[in-house]
Amino acid sequence: MRIDADFECGNIIVQELTDTGAILFIRPDSEAEYFQWFYFRVIGVPDIARTFKFANAGEASYVKAWQYYRVLVSYDEKNWFRIPTKYDGSTLTIKHTAVESTTSYAFFVPYLTAQREALLQECESSLLVTRRNIGRSHLGKPLDMVEIGDAVHPVRKIWVIARQHAGESMAEWATEGLIKRLLDPLDSASHALLSKAKVYVVPNINPDGSALGNLRANAAGVDLNRSWAEPDDKCPEIVAIQKAMKEIGVDFFLDMHGDEERPFIWVGHPDVNQSTKAKQIQHQLEQELAERNPEIRPAPKELGEEVIDNLGLASNWVAATFNCPAWITELPFAKPADMGDEADSMLQEGCLRFGRTCVEALNVVVD
Ligand SMILES: [Zn+2]
Repeated sequence: MRIDADFECGNIIVQELTDTGAILFIRPDSEAEYFQWFYFRVIGVPDIARTFKFANAGEASYVKAWQYYRVLVSYDEKNWFRIPTKYDGSTLTIKHTAVESTTSYAFFVPYLTAQREALLQECESSLLVTRRNIGRSHLGKPLDMVEIGDAVHPVRKIWVIARQHAGESMAEWATEGLIKRLLDPLDSASHALLSKAKVYVVPNINPDGSALGNLRANAAGVDLNRSWAEPDDKCPEIVAIQKAMKEIGVDFFLDMHGDEERPFIWVGHPDVNQSTKAKQIQHQLEQELAERNPEIRPAPKELGEEVIDNLGLASNWVAATFNCPAWITELPFAKPADMGDEADSMLQEGCLRFGRTCVEALNVVVD
């Protein structure tokens, strides 16, 4: 048996390897101490019961996450399923008998560059879309944005960004759901929304960190969603998007994330000085999304102190700068609690569906 993580988004360190298992360490982010994202392949004879121990799980960035969490497995990188996972307070353990000779294990369903590129090319073939490069990442990767909509009147400007946190691949799955629905000319919600708005989508604002297999940081070790107040040359991603936002303007802003700890979807809004109308619209969209997504629960209150007036956070900075409604959406890494034992509604299909419902909800609140 061998274990490979030397590929895009791969992350694992093998400390000890036998025919029946391995002791593993999750590698910290580049230039930073965050870690939790893992993604690796086991290549070996099938039908052998193997035990894999993640020896540093107890020091991961979100230790509480392990309590609800189950590892994802795939034989073909398309169909993913969860397997029983144990956490004893320091080590995370899975026992698995693979039925194929190559098996992938991951923290969540990965979303890779080739998939993004295919989506962007599909966008480019639509008359509704203009593809733009708004800048470069720390390592020089292009920061792609698609501008969706061909309305010619003064229209509302809706911004959607995803994956400030590198390992939150569910955010990019959701964004794909939103984009694909907007590209459907026969969809009545998309048609109505695009008659009054243009939608500016950056599917991955942290392509370096994502490709490196980081959990949160970009290649320079920066948490981008704490860097909006005074972005410097270690986070050119934020400098670039702020410049584009200031040139184009922002009327609505959606920032897509994944939540390691909580086994449900939640949607939060900024805690800054905003107009009453912006606050009303924020509540209204949250209600519209809750009606369409049974996995949604109220935003956790314990986040309060970190959020209040913290302009390092994208949603706060955008709301304060443009006096507009803004949201952070958080999709779970864990299987949603209380949703039945069998179905896991929040793997990639659930994330795509959430993104599609964002189109309907935005259509209700955008005037
Ligand atoms: Zn995040």
